[in-house]
Amino acid sequence: MTSMMALIGELWRLERHILSDDYDRALKRLADELPMKIHEVASGTRVWTWTVPEKWTCREAYLETLDGKRLIDAKHNPLHVVSYSLPFEGEVSREELLAHLHVHPHLADATPFVFKYYQRDWGLCAPQTLRDSLKDEKYRVVIRSEFTPGSLKIGEVLVPGERKECFVVAAHLDHPAMVNDDLTGVVVGVEAARRLLAGPKPYYSYRFLFFPETLGSIAYLSRNEKLIPQMLGGLFLEMLGNDAPHALQRSFAADAPADRALVGALRGVEPGAHVGGFRNVIDNDERQFNAPGVRVPMLSLSRVVNPHLEGSRFYPYKEYHSSLDTPEIVSEERLEASVRLTMDLLAAFDRNRYVVNIFKGEVFASGYGLWVDYKSDAAGHKRRFEIMDRCDGTRRVADIAEELGLSFQAVWDVIDKLIEKELVSLSDEPQPTDPHLR
Ligand SMILES: [Zn+2]
Repeated sequence: MTSMMALIGELWRLERHILSDDYDRALKRLADELPMKIHEVASGTRVWTWTVPEKWTCREAYLETLDGKRLIDAKHNPLHVVSYSLPFEGEVSREELLAHLHVHPHLADATPFVFKYYQRDWGLCAPQTLRDSLKDEKYRVVIRSEFTPGSLKIGEVLVPGERKECFVVAAHLDHPAMVNDDLTGVVVGVEAARRLLAGPKPYYSYRFLFFPETLGSIAYLSRNEKLIPQMLGGLFLEMLGNDAPHALQRSFAADAPADRALVGALRGVEPGAHVGGFRNVIDNDERQFNAPGVRVPMLSLSRVVNPHLEGSRFYPYKEYHSSLDTPEIVSEERLEASVRLTMDLLAAFDRNRYVVNIFKGEVFASGYGLWVDYKSDAAGHKRRFEIMDRCDGTRRVADIAEELGLSFQAVWDVIDKLIEKELVSLSDEPQPTDPHLR
C-alpha cells in the first residue's frame, strides 16, 4: 500500500496530457493499487457532440537565441510547451514570438499551464520575468510535436453494494507536472475506494472514475447511457491538498437527496465550511454529469477559497495552473482529512433513506433506554423528540437534519439507536404511516 504523497511523488512529473503515453502510464500505475477496469475510446470516435482527439506527443520543444543560447526547454519542465501545440520550427521575430509565448497572470516567476486542444496553434510558456528580458530582434523556436491515433482511457473501480443503484466518485488524472489540480483528487479517490472495498458491503454501489477532464466524463457517460438512470448522485474530487478549508459545491438540482445528505454530513465535520451553488465554487467534470440529458446530481469537494470572501485574490488557489503546483504545496495530513471527510459524505449518502416508524404514539423513551434528562441536557432532550416526531415514513434522514438545522450525523445517531431497538426501519420509497394519508 502506497501513501498518498508517495503516489503523488511517482506520478506528478509525468506528462499527463489528455491522450498521451504518460497519461496511460499513470492510469496503469493506479490499476496496480486497485481492481480497475480500463475503458478505451479510440481517437476520432464521436462521443455525443464531441470527438475524441488524437494522442499528442512532444519529442522536443525549446526557445533559443540565434547564437544558440537555450532560454526555455520542455525537457526541464513539460509546461514550457502548450499542451497539444502544433509542431513549429523556425526563426521568428520578437513580436511573433511574444504572440505565442504565454505567461502566468499573477505569478511572475512561474511557468503557466496552457492548453489548446481545439484552437490548433503553436505555443510556448515561460515566466513573465523571462518574457520581459527578451530584447533580440529574432529568436529560434523548435516544437517537435506529433498527433497520432490513440485512445482515451478511463479507469473504473466498482465497489458493489446491495443495490445496483450507484454513487459516482470522480477525479481527473490529466495535467502535466502538476499536483493539486488534480492528482490530489485522484489519490483521495484511490484511498477512499480502497477503504470502501475493505469495509462492510455498502447499501448502494460506488463507481470510482479516473479520466482526462471533460472528454473523459463525456466519453464514459455516452458509452454507458444505460447506467445513467442508476446514478443517484456523485462527488467530483479536486484540489484537496492546498492549505485551505474544504468547500462543497451543490449539484445543478441543488436540493437532491444527494445534496441534502452530503451538505448535512459536512455540517457534522466542518460546520463552517463553504457550501456554494452549482458553478459557483469551481467548475469541472461535475458539469458533464449534471448536464441536460444526464442530470446526475454530482457535487464537488475541493479546498478552493471562497471567491466571495474578501481577500480571495488567488482563486481557486495561488499556484493554480502553474509550475508552482508541486508536491510542496500539499500535505499527507490534509489529504488524509479529505479522505476521512469523503468517507463521511459517502456514509451519509448510503444511509439516507426514508425513516419509517414501526412505533405508534410517542415512544416510551425511558423504557427503551432512549431518555435524555432535560434537567442536565435540555437541548438534547428536545432534539431527540424533535427527531422522533419526524420519523413517519415521509422523510429521509437528511430531510430531518435539514428541517431541524442539524448535522446528518446528529440525526443518524438517534436513528441508529431507533433501528437497533426495532422502533424504525429504513426504506427506499416513502411509506407514510399517517392513517389519514391512506
Ligand atoms: Zn485544471
